[in-house]
Amino acid sequence: MTTTTTPTLEKAIEDTAAHLYVWALKDIPQDLRDALGEASRRETHKVGKRILETITTNVAVADEQKNLVCQDTGLAVFYVRLGEHFPLHPARIETALREGTRRATVEHPLRSNTVHTLTREPTGDNTGHRIPNIHWEFVPDWDGMDVKCVPKGSGSENMSFLKMLTPADGIAGIKRYVLDSIVGAGGKPCPPGIVGIGIGGSADLAMHLAKEAIARPVDTVNPDPEVAKLERELFELINETGVGPMGLGGDTTVLSVHIEQAHTHITLNPVAINYQCWAARRASAHITADGGVEYDREF
Ligand code: SF4
Repeated sequence: MTTTTTPTLEKAIEDTAAHLYVWALKDIPQDLRDALGEASRRETHKVGKRILETITTNVAVADEQKNLVCQDTGLAVFYVRLGEHFPLHPARIETALREGTRRATVEHPLRSNTVHTLTREPTGDNTGHRIPNIHWEFVPDWDGMDVKCVPKGSGSENMSFLKMLTPADGIAGIKRYVLDSIVGAGGKPCPPGIVGIGIGGSADLAMHLAKEAIARPVDTVNPDPEVAKLERELFELINETGVGPMGLGGDTTVLSVHIEQAHTHITLNPVAINYQCWAARRASAHITADGGVEYDREF
């Protein structure tokens, strides 16, 4: 590594972050489009069907006009998989992701949502203290970097739930808590979307896992067969609640249920839920050690 390559690499990451943020807001992924189309064809409830058709029209108009699928530009959340031999320190990568978010907001321009939590003073550029939120994963024996931007709307983020169940509550308790939470949320998280569930670990890890779960493509399955079984069961159960599109009734309350899990303490059984709305936006890229960028490489 030479010192002259670093600014170029940092700039490549900054440009990529700016592009991913805007792209995610405008062009929802194909797996989500397919799931919305399939739900629209299957839906038997009249109002639910009409809402799903309106969502499909919304997406088509956004495509045609190269505009955002929803006015809520969210909080920018980035997921980074970083190889141990990638020639830029995470501190510089964080700066680049932050600057890319700021530039996308100011240059596009995008609506800025970010405020100080107590004073409600807006920052004006969708960055702030610890915002954008960056999730890190470090990969040994690799010199690449994968980055995914998942702008998170407030309607769905407000419908986040955490409960420290007891081990005696078991799987039945997890199911009951998830169903109660989804029915209680009704139309507020703009259903149908992706229900992300984190189980195990500690309170903070469970919520972290729930957030990772919503960033997975629709219909991806947890590799652990026990967890995958629970994903399938909850998908069926949630869609039997009749909450439906936008909470106005129907067969489609959720497009996909994703669970991420960690081992936990013998006396713990934490469950966290992070809802992702129908506009489940995400965009990803791969960055090579010499600053090359390949878009749409999902991870
Ligand atoms: S929750 Fe999603 S669909 Fe609803 S307003 Fe926010 S970004 Fe838009």
